[in-house]
Formats: sequence, C-alpha cells, structure tokens
Amino acid sequence: MSQYSHLLSPLDLGHVTLKNRVLMGSMHTGLEETKDWPRVGEFYAARARGGVALMVTGGMAPNREGGVFPGAAGLFTDQDITNHRIVTDAVHAAGGLIAMQVLHAGRYAYGKECVSASPIKSPISPFPPKELDEEGIEKQIADIVTACARAREAGYDGAEIMGSEGYFLNQFLVKHTNKRTDRWGGSYENRMRLPVEVVRRAREAVGPDFILIYRLSMIDLIPDGSSFDEVVQLARAVEAAGASIINTGIGWHEARIPTIATSVPRAAFAWVTKKLMGQVGIPIITSNRINTPDVAEDVLATGCADMVSMARPFLADADFVAKAIAGEAQMIAPCIACNQACLDHTFSGKISTCLVNPRACHETELVIEPAKVSKTIAVVGAGPAGLSAAITAAQRGHDVTLFDRDDRIGGQLNMARVIPGKEEFHGLVEWYATMLEASGVKLALGAEVGPDDLGGFDEVIIATGVIPRDPGIPGQDGANVLNYIDVLRGKAKVGARVAIIGAGGIGFDVAEYLAEEGSSPTLHLPEWMTEWGITDPSEARGGLAPEGPQPSAPARQITLLQRKNERPGKRLGKTTGWIHRATLKMKKVEMIGGVNYERIDADGLHVSTGEASENPRVIEVDSVVLCAGQLPRRSLADALEAKGIAVHVIGGADIAAELDAKRAIDQGTRLAARL
Ligand code: FAD
Ligand code: NAP
Ligand code: SF4
Repeated sequence: MSQYSHLLSPLDLGHVTLKNRVLMGSMHTGLEETKDWPRVGEFYAARARGGVALMVTGGMAPNREGGVFPGAAGLFTDQDITNHRIVTDAVHAAGGLIAMQVLHAGRYAYGKECVSASPIKSPISPFPPKELDEEGIEKQIADIVTACARAREAGYDGAEIMGSEGYFLNQFLVKHTNKRTDRWGGSYENRMRLPVEVVRRAREAVGPDFILIYRLSMIDLIPDGSSFDEVVQLARAVEAAGASIINTGIGWHEARIPTIATSVPRAAFAWVTKKLMGQVGIPIITSNRINTPDVAEDVLATGCADMVSMARPFLADADFVAKAIAGEAQMIAPCIACNQACLDHTFSGKISTCLVNPRACHETELVIEPAKVSKTIAVVGAGPAGLSAAITAAQRGHDVTLFDRDDRIGGQLNMARVIPGKEEFHGLVEWYATMLEASGVKLALGAEVGPDDLGGFDEVIIATGVIPRDPGIPGQDGANVLNYIDVLRGKAKVGARVAIIGAGGIGFDVAEYLAEEGSSPTLHLPEWMTEWGITDPSEARGGLAPEGPQPSAPARQITLLQRKNERPGKRLGKTTGWIHRATLKMKKVEMIGGVNYERIDADGLHVSTGEASENPRVIEVDSVVLCAGQLPRRSLADALEAKGIAVHVIGGADIAAELDAKRAIDQGTRLAARL
C-alpha cells in the first residue's frame, strides 16, 4: 500500500469519480490574458499529465464591473468559448479534469465601476464601490450564473464559485461591508441570501452532472467577520442549494495576517476546515501552506478534510502527484512559499512563473531537450545559479562537474535557511542534492577553484556568486563591527544592542534572526497564532483574538538603518514586504532612513542627516552588523578570460545588483537549456 493511502484514494462525486484527493487550486497566472490559448492549454495539460485529480483555473470575471482589473479575462463572447475549448480539450486529452473559477471581485475590482453591498471602500483599493439596488443585484447573480453555464459550454467539468477572500459574495456575508436594511442585509439569513441564490441558480443552469465548488471563507481574519456558527449555516445552505464540494478560503485580502507566505506554518489553517467536517454531507477541501505529499497525507489522515488544495506547489512541480504515486516524493521540486515569481509577478502585471521552476507558465518556450552533442561542462559555484545550470545540463545528457570551495552545496541559500520563517529553504537545498545525484552531476566540493584548474572542459560556467560590499565607514575594522556572513554562520558574537547598516533583504533578514535568537514561531503553530492574534472563529468573529497580536519579547534591541530617505523595506517583495515590516515592528526594531554614517567607535554608531551632516547623534550599541549590499565575485571569470578561455558567467558573479535566487535559477536553467 502507498504511504499516501488517503491522498491517493479516489473520491466519488456521483456523476464522476476523482482519481485522487488533490485539487490544484485557482491561481491567477496572467496566461489567459496573453490570449495564447495553446500556451494556456499546455500549462494545464502538463499538470493533468502529472496526475492531479482536478484543477481550477484562475478567476474568470462574470462581467466588466466584477473583473479584478480592467480587461480581466472572462467568457463573454462565443470566441471566448472557442478559445477556452482549446484549454479544456488539452486537459481532457491528457486525462485530466478542470473547473473554471468564476470570480466577482466586488469592491476589490480595480476600477470606478466596482459594485458591492454597501458603498464602503476597501483599505486596499482606491475605488469606493457603488451600492447595488435590487435590479443591480439580480444582474450580478444572472451574470455569475451565465458564466457557470458558459464554462460548461466551453467544456469545463465544473465551476468554482468564489465566495471567500473578501470578494463580492463574501462582502454581502458580513456586517463589516454589508450595512443594507433590505432583504440582502441585516439578519444572517438575509446576508447569505446572495451566495445561496447564486449557487441555487447556477445548479439549475448547469444541470446535475457538473461539479459546482463553493469557496467558503472559514476564517475571515477581519474585524466583524463571520462567526463559526454562520460558517456552518452557510455551508449547509450552499449544500442544499446544489454545491458538490466546499473549498476553504482563509482570510480576506485586506487582512493584516499572513496566510500563505513562507513564514506561515505548514498546514496552518487545516484545523479550521476540520471544524466543518461532519457538518455537511458533501466533500470539504482544505488549503493554505500544504506543500508536500507528507503534509497533505497527514492533513487527510487526521480528518481535517476530504481533499487538499495546493496551488503554488503545481507551479514548482507539474508532476507533484505522479512523483508521489511513484514513491519519489523527494524528487518533487518544493514550493518554498516565497511568492517571488508567482503572486509578486501577478501584482506587478507580469506573467507568473516559479522561483524554483522557471518553466512554469513558460512550458512552450523554455523546453529542456536532449543535447545534440554531449559535452564536458565545468560549473564553478554550487549556489542556485550553478546548481540549476549543472542539473539542467546533466539532464540534457552533458557530462557535468560542479565545483564549490565550500564543503556543502547551496551557496547563500545556506544563510537564507537559518532565518526564522525561511525554513523552507532547507527543503530546497535538499531537493538540489537529490537532483544532483539523480542527474549524474559529479560533485567536487571543499576546494577553491583557480584559473589553472579548468583545462579540458568543452564549456565553463562561472557561478561564483558575490562578495559583500565594503561601505568604507571609518572605524569599521573595530572588534564591535561584524559582517552578515559571520553572524548568520554563527561565527560572531552579537551584543544586546545592535545597529544594522543596510535595510535591504539581507538587513531585514538579519534583524529577524537577531530578534528571535534561535526560535522560530513558524515551527510552532500555537506560538505563531498568538504572535499574529489568531484565534478559533468559534471564540471570536473572524478568528481575530480580542487581545490582538501578542509577539514574544525581542532577544535584542535593534536599530535598522539605510541612507535612502524612504520608508525602510519599501523595495521588499510586493506581497510579502508588509509581513517583514510588521514582524520587525512587533519586535520593536527601530527603522531609520535618510542617515549618513559618520564613524563607528566604542560608543556605537555615529550618524547625521543631510549633505551638511546635520543632527549628529550616536546610536549606542554593542555591535554593528554590515549588510550594505553585494558586488559580483568575478575574479575567476576575469582570470580565465585573461587566459583566453571563454566562460559563461551567471548569477551574482554576472550582476549582483538586485540579484535574488529567482534570477539566479532562471539564468542558470536558460543557459543550460541552450548549451
Ligand atoms: P551564491 O549563492 O553566492 O553561490 C556562489 C557559490 O560559489 C558559493 O557556494 C561559493 O562558495 C562558490 N564559490 C565562489 N568562488 C568559488 C571558487 N573560486 N571556487 C569554488 N567555489 C566558489 N534570494 C531570494 O530569492 N529569496 C530570498 O528569500 C533570499 N533570502 C536571502 C537571505 C539571505 C540571508 C541571503 C544571504 C541571501 C538571500 N537571498 C534570497 C539571495 C540569494 O540567496 C542569492 O541571490 C543567490 O544565492 C545567488 O546565487 P548564486 O548562485 O549567484 O551565488
Ligand atoms: P540590497 O537589497 O541591495 O540592500 C543593500 C542595502 O545596503 C540597502 O539598504 C542600501 O541602502 C545599503 N547600502 C548600499 N550601498 C551602501 C554603502 N556603500 N554603504 C552603506 N550602505 C549601503 O542587498 P542585500 O540586502 O545585500 O540583498 C542582496 C540580494 O539578496 C538582494 O538583491 C535581495 O533581493 C536578495 N534577498 C532577497 C530576499 C527576499 O526575501 N526576497 C531576502 C534577502 C536577500 P542605502 O543605499 O539606502 O544605504
Ligand atoms: Fe512557490 Fe515561490 Fe514558486 Fe511561487 S515562486 S510557486 S511561492 S516557490
């Protein structure tokens, strides 16, 4: 019997049987907006071939006013239906099933035409919504129902009605956004009338042999959100109205509590879904931060749900399920929940992809094919750039040797993974180790490579990473001044009062590391919930603890500084920067922008402001940690080029500015795909 007996068991829905308990959750990738339908089809077909039971598309707008942004994709015309047929045909040819999500954004729609229950602007949108009248509500219902019917016409196996995350239907459910006094507001029966009516009429329109998923917000994480009794009442009503499956939604988009970022503990909200088990007769799906077959199996085996939804893990690895079936879970490229290439791209108007899998959403363009001629290739540097280049080249049939002067692989990922809340990087380094072995890369660790060590290779790839920037501050050679590498490798003793020079990604990470001192709430769910102020929605509406966030005391007094006169942390990840800023605020880290560094001495760090060095002051600290950015480590590449040896330079060794693992891996993979 498989070790994933729950995960891999079929689920009978009456008119159709799902082959396992895995749903690929809805993701807005931006692919539909490219209008390159064969490309969209291949994205989903690849996941269908990879064994997932059922997929849900990104949200499709039911009408113009309900689109998340102007021009959001939907099934408005006959041509749209023909286009979507390309996708559903591709999925069916690959043996899969696919449902289309119908997403009405309500007051989250980015445009002046947005509509909602009441004219209350969302804190995350500049547009106040128009309050719908009776006729307007009827139009919205009709449009959502028509979208479900058109999904069927386009060949989808089902539709998911988006009722969570603070979108349109959710906005009617809670008093926070619904102040109406007519039959659509006031009592809970009235407030839930809209979602129930939508499900009832959608079922009438699509017939009995069509999957209807209702995504239900089980913990709103906003003030005045739903109580759990209301959640149960709604679940029973949508079941009676004709839903085939209930999927879990966690938190409104405007909630100030992280719900899917890497610092959220794995399966952090499965206990919420579990509360609904036994309350309805239809299957229930749980979701959020489930990223390995083991976690998914555990969630099902402990009765938290009938099915699991994973979304981003299918960007990281299209073959997630197939590898679990084959007993090769260690070969699954792990989603580290960084959001860097998926959600951050979506919110920047770029097509989603994945930090660990640059092929995601680029399946038709970035193709890894067997090499026509097998070459000998040397790769120097086993950070993410070198690792991805070496593995991809070896998978294509090249004879690859990967060198690193360190006695382990991973490069800077070994520093990232010691940061509290970034434990997922452990799994990424482990996965690289597995893939090196599986692809037959020869490893040469523990010896610095010089320009005379690389004779006899057909191709040489230099991925030697970076060196820390020298900020040239008078007094920086003192014993109280440390660099981030020594701090994160545990080689430096850091005092109780610390100033950190540089508030980039590394400065923020070092601040979190020093504030936590070895413990990580990410690894202790109750501690993490207390830190962010989350409680049982049966105890308090929306699951917000009445006492609010209760972070543990910081291990040190920390000041984080930068020279730019802007809010520190402004340039961090689009969807995760706020979490880092909030975490440091909870740890009472003082963040100061717009300073000049004058000198460091036994009293601490002397700073001033302005071109004329005004307002001199000393920040009294025991230690100063330098996190002043990075420069390319190019010496080996330069020496080889000076000897007339052609090299390919990738990752930090190429361009250090704004480098991250996403760019390093993308560059390494793309280079190896064409050698
Ligand atoms: P590196 O990772 O620096 O690897 C270079 C390798 O080359 C090293 O292993 C080194 O030992 C080896 N080497 C150098 N010279 C030689 C030589 N002559 N011979 C043999 N070997 C040699 N990025 C993100 O995308 N997301 C994050 O959340 C994130 N968090 C981070 C947190 C911290 C604390 C740090 C320090 C970095 C973080 N990064 C993050 C950045 C990311 O790790 C780097 O951008 C990435 O590792 C750069 O990859 P690389 O392969 O170019 O270089
Ligand atoms: P960074 O983000 O470029 O930040 C460098 C910091 O040093 C800035 O705050 C900068 O601010 C300061 N600085 C630059 N030159 C200086 C000088 N001469 N003297 C004093 N201060 C100086 O680089 P990083 O923090 O080293 O991070 C390296 C890379 O790793 C980044 O590209 C980042 O994307 C990546 N990373 C990503 C994450 C993530 O979560 N995604 C986490 C960690 C690292 P001022 O110039 O205003 O002083
Ligand atoms: Fe997961 Fe990061 Fe890839 Fe997004 S970019 S799918 S969060 S690993």
